[in-house]
Amino acid sequence: KLASREFHPENTVIQIGDVKIGGGELVVMGGPCAVESAEQIDEIARLVKAAGGQVLRGGAFKPRTGPYSFQGVGVEGLIMMAEAGKKHGLLTITEVMTPEYVDICAEYADILQVGTRNMQNFDLLRKLGEVRKPVLLKRGFSATYDELLNAAEYILAGGNPDVMLCERGIRTFESYTRNTLDLSAIPVLQHLSHLPVISDPSHGTGRRELVEPMTRASVAAGADGLIIEMHTDPDNSMTGDGVQSLFPDQFARLLRELEQLSPII
Ligand code: PEP
Ligand code: MN
Repeated sequence: KLASREFHPENTVIQIGDVKIGGGELVVMGGPCAVESAEQIDEIARLVKAAGGQVLRGGAFKPRTGPYSFQGVGVEGLIMMAEAGKKHGLLTITEVMTPEYVDICAEYADILQVGTRNMQNFDLLRKLGEVRKPVLLKRGFSATYDELLNAAEYILAGGNPDVMLCERGIRTFESYTRNTLDLSAIPVLQHLSHLPVISDPSHGTGRRELVEPMTRASVAAGADGLIIEMHTDPDNSMTGDGVQSLFPDQFARLLRELEQLSPII
């Protein structure tokens, strides 16, 4: 299989501009759950850059559990985020939910994210195989490693070699945390596959106070990068993810700490 370490013994290194993902240097993607306004994403981009992050995250299309919740600002959000990224010298990552929106998302963002709920949206994966933009594929919250690797296989088989895998927590019997961040996924996926592995301690815990320790744990487990939610006003964020979003000063402190933790190799 194309995703397997057997097929491709060397680590895949994804280079976007001067950022290398999977090459031994830790990559940090930070930003809000959702793009809310041009001012919001511009200010957060400034803070991500100042803290030393390389990639601005933000959803323009949001996969909400209920149909009456805020669904994202759509294409306008893609434009706002692209401008903020350009202005502050950051790459951007955003979620794409349907095959029809892949081209427009690819036009505005540097990395396309597949959300946990869409890990086995095979039409979406096939379409992502045809684009020339890297893809961050999130593990389904009830998916095995094998199912995640098979999902990645769809993108690779379509001709797009630039796939990173993301552990974002799985559903377990524990309800104190929103999900259980499966730290074992990091070394297991790196053993089975050559693709970079990114950890998402925000969705992986659902609790702000757990993001910092689980970030450190992810780095210790060998993660190639992190995707972390940060918001200037988490209590008033437009998705429910304010409770897991770091305040800007916490985000900056965490990144300073990471400089001492990595690279370990
Ligand atoms: C997100 O990154 O905001 C998101 C919706 O993530 P997930 O698909 O992991 O729930
Ligand atoms: Mn979120």
